Amino acid sequence: MHSDPYIYFLAALLGLAIGSFLNVLIYRLPREQKVVLERSCCPNCRKRIAFYDNIPVISYLVLLGKCRICNAPISARYPMVEILNAALYVFFIFLDGLTLQLALHWFLASALLVIFFIDLEFQIIPDKITFPGMVIGLIGAFFVETPGIVNALIGFVVGGGALLAVAYLGEWLFKKEAMGGGDIKMAAMMGAFVGWQKVLLIFMGGAVIGMIVSLIWMGMSEKVRKERLIPFGPFLAVAALIIVVYGDSLLSFYINNFLRV
Ligand SMILES: [Zn+2]
Repeated sequence: MHSDPYIYFLAALLGLAIGSFLNVLIYRLPREQKVVLERSCCPNCRKRIAFYDNIPVISYLVLLGKCRICNAPISARYPMVEILNAALYVFFIFLDGLTLQLALHWFLASALLVIFFIDLEFQIIPDKITFPGMVIGLIGAFFVETPGIVNALIGFVVGGGALLAVAYLGEWLFKKEAMGGGDIKMAAMMGAFVGWQKVLLIFMGGAVIGMIVSLIWMGMSEKVRKERLIPFGPFLAVAALIIVVYGDSLLSFYINNFLRV
């Protein structure tokens, strides 16, 4: 834990600024638009957004959640992503201090946020997130103690391989696609960051959260259920954040209580 309060303030500002960029990714990646060198514009009236209307969270509040020009409502997702990202950045300083591990956790947390919102809306997990994620996770593992490069490589193979097996099994059993390629690549990426034990915990956590949400979902009206599919990626993303934080305690609890000979 870091003691200088100023550090947390800077982390929050950085988290907001990067959160604002994550919003750009969340909007543009699934629409296959260029991510860089293009100014933001209102999705409704297509007018450019001035820099003073593009300040994280504050502009949303000042504009009361509406476009200055056309008055179309701005999605509450924008400030939500910024605040979530800032909160995660601050939280991970508590966990890691100013270490390289922190940079890796920040990257993973932001990548998971982007995946969460894109997969939720479009049922897509973009390669432009997972491929760089795999590379950064594996290279980063050379320089940090946990999971370490060997475990990161095993995690990469086990994570991707496990969901690939589920995909084949599901296709064989149900004669239709049960698991998308995006989920498989996302699992490989997470495995590279957390190692094989924790990536298996993430699958369990994702399945549990998925079951709970599905039960609530089944209570909804038929119209709602037909309009929206439930993708697996968001559950995996939430589970991954929980496991990154509590995975060690869960693993040692398991080893101490169930694996004692
Ligand atoms: Zn507008």
